[in-house]
Amino acid sequence: MAGLSVQLKAPNGREYTQPIGLFINNEFVASKSGAKIASINPTDESEITSVYAAGAEDVDLAVKAARKALKDPSWKDLPPTERGYLMNKLADLVEKHQETLATIETWDNGKPYSVALAEDLGEVISTLRYYAGWADKVYGQTISTTSAKFAYTLRQPIGVVGQIIPWNYPLGMAAWKLGPALACGNTIVLKAAEQTPLSILYLATLIKEAGFPAGVINILNGHGREAGSALVQHPGVDKVAFTGSTATGREIMKLAAASLKNITLETGGKSPLVVFEDADLDQAAKWAHIGIMSNQGQICTATSRILVHDSIYDQFVAQFKEVVLSTSKVGDPFSDDTFQGPQVTKAQYERVLSYIESGKSEGATLVTGGEPYKNVGDGKGFFIAPTVFKNVKDNMRIYREEVFGPFVVIASFGTEEEAVTKANDTTYGLGAAVFTKDIERAHRVAAEIESGMVWINSSNDSDFRIPFGGVKQSGIGRELGEAGLEAYTQVKSVHINMGTKL
Ligand code: NAD
Repeated sequence: MAGLSVQLKAPNGREYTQPIGLFINNEFVASKSGAKIASINPTDESEITSVYAAGAEDVDLAVKAARKALKDPSWKDLPPTERGYLMNKLADLVEKHQETLATIETWDNGKPYSVALAEDLGEVISTLRYYAGWADKVYGQTISTTSAKFAYTLRQPIGVVGQIIPWNYPLGMAAWKLGPALACGNTIVLKAAEQTPLSILYLATLIKEAGFPAGVINILNGHGREAGSALVQHPGVDKVAFTGSTATGREIMKLAAASLKNITLETGGKSPLVVFEDADLDQAAKWAHIGIMSNQGQICTATSRILVHDSIYDQFVAQFKEVVLSTSKVGDPFSDDTFQGPQVTKAQYERVLSYIESGKSEGATLVTGGEPYKNVGDGKGFFIAPTVFKNVKDNMRIYREEVFGPFVVIASFGTEEEAVTKANDTTYGLGAAVFTKDIERAHRVAAEIESGMVWINSSNDSDFRIPFGGVKQSGIGRELGEAGLEAYTQVKSVHINMGTKL
């Protein structure tokens, strides 16, 4: 792999070999143009390394490799049980290398190492094992019609799937997409986000080691507008699965329309967290903090719009502020006591700061934060003080738009009906949380809220066994759980004439 890998030493002292090529046909290769993308450490703004960036020609090679692998007996005829074994082998290798993978994730993305290791890597391993178990349990039905017809369905792979993932959970999003696609027998071209390419390339080495046949999983880095759009438009791609912003989701839908590609989209959100007057306020404040401040607030399902009953508004704001100040320790993501690392990139950092300015100029009241956080290292890095605004009006940008940072708005409501109306007053519909001790109200409100997921008395404790996805402009289709398999199979109906003569 001369020129296709570099020896690196991470800030925590871990040394490892970082691949920098495109992973096509189980080999790392340089991009045809030789173009590269620099990966930046968001903690101190230094360059970690640079990796090859795919262009349209490279995408074409990867898609051809995946198409060939789709028909190759080593994959096509592999019994599904053995497909599951391969996936379990990959999960075992991820577990074996989890400290290195978590180190890379923290270095490249800025998330706290303890979180990367326990939560992100834990989720990757669980998701791969969960879908490995499904590999030999995806089958069709027999369908009763008349005595003259026997009918059954086959659930077949869709074919070559293009998967485009974001930077907020690089390995987690890869596992959510690879797991069900592999379980169902598809072949894959996965494009990582240009901001966080490194952990995905290390994962590629484990894919080869696990023994997947060449071409089954191909991994590219590259810019969205170049490699991403080439992948979506490629005639050899049968399906596109995307996670990222709503604007890009819309663009992908347009590009995919030309060849009527099957798509699933998981896009943005402005998810409400509703606190009724009978809620356990201490728990509501703690979960509300987790729901928006984890992962530097860079979570599509972040409950970023808190709605609180008038009668407890001031008390909730005070308790919530207390939890933020006592828990959200901003610092070096490799330090054990850090809760919040830097934002992933300068662009995201500036974006969050611009929303802070917008909140101030629109007349919302700043409760805490509202500025960059400069007390880490020598003052470099994309750190932002966790920010809370209250007295937020429905028409303010900070109430309506996805910020994607440690940034939350708190508004109030008077009645249950008003709470539901406010919760639904958004173009998004990803997650929602409801805090109440009234069991009837909990179920009633859960049914009325327009979102793909509702948490009762918690927030964002998603689970690989439970479907995940959005309604309205938060997406199309579901990932995770049994529902996640739907996105990667197609149903073929077989009719058998049992004696009808013409
Ligand atoms: P993005 O949607 O632009 O990027 C996500 C992925 O899509 C990346 O891999 C990117 O390369 C690819 N992509 C971009 N343009 C493409 C195109 N035209 N065709 C094909 N692929 C393309 O997200 P971003 O710019 O990194 O972040 C912007 C905002 O998106 C964030 O501030 C946040 O609001 C939102 N976001 C949401 C999620 C989520 O999980 N829902 C994740 C990341 C970002």
